[in-house]
Amino acid sequence: MIPYGHQSISNADIEAVTSVLKSDFLTQGPQVPLFEQSIANLTQSKFAVAANSATSLLHAACIALDVSKNDIVWTSPISFVASSNCALYCAAQIDFVDIDPETANICPIALAAKLVIAEKNNKLPKVIIVVHIAGHSCDMTPIAQLARQFDIKIIEDAAHAIGGHYLEHPIGSCRYSDITVFSFHPVKIITTAEGGVATTNDPLLAKSMAMTCSHGITKNHNEFTEFEQGAWYYEQQSLGFNYRMTDLQAALGNSQLNQLSTFVNKRNALALRYQQQFKNTQINVITPLEGTLSAYHLLLIKLPQHCDRKYVFDEMRKAGIGVHVHYIPIHLQPYYQGLGFKTGDFPLAEAYYQSCLTLPLFPDLTVDEQNVICAKLKELVQ
Ligand SMILES: *Cc1c(COP(=O)(O)O)cnc(C)c1O
Repeated sequence: MIPYGHQSISNADIEAVTSVLKSDFLTQGPQVPLFEQSIANLTQSKFAVAANSATSLLHAACIALDVSKNDIVWTSPISFVASSNCALYCAAQIDFVDIDPETANICPIALAAKLVIAEKNNKLPKVIIVVHIAGHSCDMTPIAQLARQFDIKIIEDAAHAIGGHYLEHPIGSCRYSDITVFSFHPVKIITTAEGGVATTNDPLLAKSMAMTCSHGITKNHNEFTEFEQGAWYYEQQSLGFNYRMTDLQAALGNSQLNQLSTFVNKRNALALRYQQQFKNTQINVITPLEGTLSAYHLLLIKLPQHCDRKYVFDEMRKAGIGVHVHYIPIHLQPYYQGLGFKTGDFPLAEAYYQSCLTLPLFPDLTVDEQNVICAKLKELVQ
């Protein structure tokens, strides 16, 4: 089966991890701060905080932005459940903003309209989590402007998007947001097996996230609130978790970063070939906004109306092609229906879900494999 996504691990990656295994520190050694600094440099942000997953960092980001009971958080219904679960971890209320069917990203016009109504009803969100679906950046200029106008914080869920740009700014620069979160799960652009990094330009948000990821403890003298009793001294100042990244993971991340631009270029070249193959067909590839560079985590297509998506999906799988569906709208998950959401709440997201399909896209996908995928799909979509 050709998978929809797959990591690329080099000999240099393997050596980087084994050298940590032979060193004194398997965790909390030099690799994690090195990785954090590299991500800060890459994204042109001031601070980067590593953790054991993007999910943990979305939680830590909500805590840093003081999301708690009685607060409201909005996100996109077309995302992985982690984008909205983080608000629920903080006992906040979650709501969704419908998508732009052209981009599958949160629609800035729908967002503006929903904000006006929310303001009237005194139900403005504290935080909006925008998701750069497939690595395609949301339109951050109007989103940042709305955030300023309504005094709302923005988290970018950039799990799909490391290595991409919005206008001339790297995703993660936090020019249009308060915090950006990346994931390094194996199917994402670069991997640390499990892991993530959050970037921000605000030292207090960085400190809060770092503390949340390590039990709420600080070992920094300058941050102590009480008398330093000796060299062993540390303080727990908030209630945190063990969300730390290990040095083994960070070493893999540091090594993978050397390949990031190669990976992104290969993904873009393959995505362009898909587009060319589907020209003059009824297969509609979701492409990034003009003026952006997508990391192209996913190759998303919309099938024409007359197509039975389940039939196409099953036939592709039977042919050894690991197509997928991204995503089942979050609000239709049983857990979320239990919170009161129902079919019809976000009609554009629901319509998108009916016709969407994800085709294999990863750096080591060969042109021959891609030709097989395209031929089979075109045959099915006649
Ligand atoms: C993968 C993913 C996450 C979660 O990342 P983990 O590192 O696996 O916790 C969050 N949001 C989106 C959109 C994702 O695709």
